[in-house]
Amino acid sequence: MDLEFTEEELAFRDEVRSFLKAKLPADVAQAVAYGKELEKEQILRWQAILNEKGWVATTWPKEYGGPGWTAVERHIFSEECALNNAPRMPPFGLNMLGPVLIKFGSEQQKAEILPRIIDGTDWWCQGYSEPGAGSDLASLKTKAVRDGDDYIVNGQKTWTTLGQHANKIFCLVRTDSEVKPQAGISFLLVDLDTPGVEMRPIRLLDGGYEVNEVFFTDARVPVANLVGEENQGWTIAKYLLTHERTNIAGIGFSTKDLERFHELAGEVIRDGRLIADNPAYAARAAELEADLEALRITNLRMLAKTKDGAAGGVESSLLKLKGTQIRQELQDLYRSALGPEAAPVADDLSENELTIPPESARAAPVYFNHRKLSIFGGANEIQRNIVAKELFRG
Ligand SMILES: Cc1cc2nc3c(=O)[nH]c(=O)nc-3n(C[C@H](O)[C@H](O)[C@H](O)COP(=O)(O)OP(=O)(O)OC[C@H]3O[C@@H](n4cnc5c(N)ncnc54)[C@H](O)[C@@H]3O)c2cc1C
Repeated sequence: MDLEFTEEELAFRDEVRSFLKAKLPADVAQAVAYGKELEKEQILRWQAILNEKGWVATTWPKEYGGPGWTAVERHIFSEECALNNAPRMPPFGLNMLGPVLIKFGSEQQKAEILPRIIDGTDWWCQGYSEPGAGSDLASLKTKAVRDGDDYIVNGQKTWTTLGQHANKIFCLVRTDSEVKPQAGISFLLVDLDTPGVEMRPIRLLDGGYEVNEVFFTDARVPVANLVGEENQGWTIAKYLLTHERTNIAGIGFSTKDLERFHELAGEVIRDGRLIADNPAYAARAAELEADLEALRITNLRMLAKTKDGAAGGVESSLLKLKGTQIRQELQDLYRSALGPEAAPVADDLSENELTIPPESARAAPVYFNHRKLSIFGGANEIQRNIVAKELFRG
């Protein structure tokens, strides 16, 4: 097993670095560095720049418009993006629906939908979770009842990330209530402007707005919008979830955050000394650095093992679990080292009297926002169950 990059991979890394340096808009990079919510326009502008280079649909095969990268190249690309404050592209169309359509979609669905994901014409959101169906997703109740060439959809989805920017939603719906729960689910594509579909915002702990509830009341959806067979939804849902968890370890983000913490600790004086000289913070930072290095090596080992990049269930669970723990602990370190200065008085940082670098001025909201990491993409308790089952399997 070789954990060093090859010469070609190092050359690719240089190419990515130069591209990011030349093309990433300064306002977008600054919003990412400051931990601010990006505007839709900023995300689409960056998507258009990536699209011009052919680097948007990083997980898709070449024939559908992907760059045809290896798993290692994808890893290098996402790490460099994080290190250079490029935004993470919303995964719903690119990393979730795209691979699902490529595997399960009809030729017509592929031809119509995939190009519109790549060029940003359609913004998809994910309608899996419901108020009574999160970890126990199979208990979902949103119903789709066949009526001629349509389904009539009734029910509610929740936690729909960035749904406010979306024009389409892919949903899991119940099409048979008589069989065991997993066997009666279908995967349906819905236009958000369909009469009877309503989106309502949910405000989060950090004051931001990135999730929603979606209500369906007698919404008519053409049967042609079904992906795969009726009642095949659970198989499709599980396939999508392995893609959802890939790359969720966020090693690049943690590396960048640690780098920022070290810069901050060497600059800011608290309680009469540099943060870096406080043994409690220095010890926590060192511990996190060691954990992150171990995670980086684990990730590279898994990449070397899988080659095609398809992270197996237990591997993606391990990466998600440890990666999100490290990201949360780093934000906790950051926030506690800054004390009251971690929370800005106003959203516009220029209105704050900053005695710390502006990149650190939103440390508290970012900390609160990062609570979500151990919940979404499958709660960490569930990942622990998956890992434990694998370990103790006779
Ligand atoms: C910010 C954010 C964005 C999200 N975005 C989306 C989205 O875009 N689309 C979408 O469909 N969903 C989205 N989700 C939903 C997410 O997938 C669910 O929140 C997650 O699956 C957990 O479900 P739940 O919130 O219903 O919690 P529950 O399943 O009710 O769990 C509550 C607690 O009990 C624990 N628990 C539950 N069952 C077990 C068990 N068997 N063993 C041990 N512990 C258990 C959980 O781990 C958790 O700690 C998002 C969630 C968040 C927080």
